[in-house]
Amino acid sequence: MTMYKKRKMLIVDSIDIDRDILKDIFKNEFDILEASDGQAAVELVNQHKNQICVALLDMQISMVSSASLLEYHSTDPVFSKIPVIAITINDDTRTQMEAFQMGAADYITKPFIEEIIRYRIKNVLSTCQAEQAAQETEILRVKAERDMMTGIYNKVTSEHLVSSLLAANDTICAMLVIDIDDFKQVNDVYGHLEGDRVICAIADMLSNHFRKTDIVGRIGGDEFLVFMSGLPSMELARQKADNFLKLLKYKPVPTYPIHVSVSIGMAITQPRSYTYRELFKQADEALYQAKRNGKGQYAEYGLEKSPKARKHPVPNALLFSKNRDICNAIHLISEDIQLFTIVSQDEPADFKKESSQKPYLLYIDISAEDGGGDVLLKQMLAEDYLQDIPFIAICQEGNIKQYSAAIQKGAVDILPAPIDTEFAKRRIKEFFC
Ligand code: GH3
Ligand code: MG
Repeated sequence: MTMYKKRKMLIVDSIDIDRDILKDIFKNEFDILEASDGQAAVELVNQHKNQICVALLDMQISMVSSASLLEYHSTDPVFSKIPVIAITINDDTRTQMEAFQMGAADYITKPFIEEIIRYRIKNVLSTCQAEQAAQETEILRVKAERDMMTGIYNKVTSEHLVSSLLAANDTICAMLVIDIDDFKQVNDVYGHLEGDRVICAIADMLSNHFRKTDIVGRIGGDEFLVFMSGLPSMELARQKADNFLKLLKYKPVPTYPIHVSVSIGMAITQPRSYTYRELFKQADEALYQAKRNGKGQYAEYGLEKSPKARKHPVPNALLFSKNRDICNAIHLISEDIQLFTIVSQDEPADFKKESSQKPYLLYIDISAEDGGGDVLLKQMLAEDYLQDIPFIAICQEGNIKQYSAAIQKGAVDILPAPIDTEFAKRRIKEFFC
């Protein structure tokens, strides 16, 4: 037989006989917790707050006043969910007002009239339950429509919302299917947790980049969907896609030390021309085109190559550094090359496996402190795969001894840290021209 567990009622009143009256009224319905002063009430609240469903609080209590108790009630996340009913003496409208101002849900008056007290408590509890049910429904609704990891729409909701917009819209719409490039490599090299962070960062960047009225959803592991309606021109859709690629390039995913690119397939449509599935198929085909064209770019369905499609930046360069500021600075100056950041000695082998191209330039942070230093340099230069590739030494210590050591070991140039990006850009341009 299942035992029926009664809900708990807390009665805080300094007059024994008043507590007894209330206890008599409610003892069959509730487990009664009693406190004769504020101090005892705080202790009971802390012991039982998850189980208390209503508190009756005499406004005249001592040792922690009713005002302090109500203040604690308003600031504590669990206690604040328990409705408090103030007990005042009859006609004391000032105290009743104060109780309301401090967050009481209602008041009852002394001398007690059983019927009225019962009704008031019943009403407060049913309002509370209705509010809680509404909150729970809202939480369930959000859970059902959102992707748990990123908080943006999930696949089902994205499809549903886009379908409704397509059916009702009289404007130009664009669907973008966005897939992270070489994401398996991120997982393999940095682990799944870091991979998850990258997915969340891209979701955030998409949410911020597109308008609040656009639909942004995660429709697969490393795949996202953006749907824009109400566009004044097709060109705007292309610009938005291109700007997002630039954003990723210049303001990389805020996760050390990964530089990530995405490919975008886009389908633009006139009002009411296509269903979700038809449009998705087009955008997905365009995505494959963008991947085939070399990744890191967008392609538009129906166009052999989008007018603004950006070629995958070639050639490759490798950056060896463990310092976040250095990584960011080198990414900023590497406008026309594909830069791979490497932080541990084992990674070149992974890069070699994954990349079809030999890098044409190495940046090696030879700083002792957190760059990797001499050990790294020695190890890199011993790699067959990296032989005969010019390297630029990044010197954080910035002293002559370090510079001359770098040159002796064959550095073709030196970048002192902190890196001045304008200066570094000029040096690298001059060097390669
Ligand atoms: P491509 O440039 O062709 O897109 O190559 P890719 O390596 O990104 O390959 P693809 O898009 O086919 O693979 C996506 C990978 O994303 C496969 C899977 O291991 C990984 N993945 C899927 N869901 C998650 C996730 O929730 N977290 C992490 N960390 N990885 C995921
Ligand atoms: Mg991918």
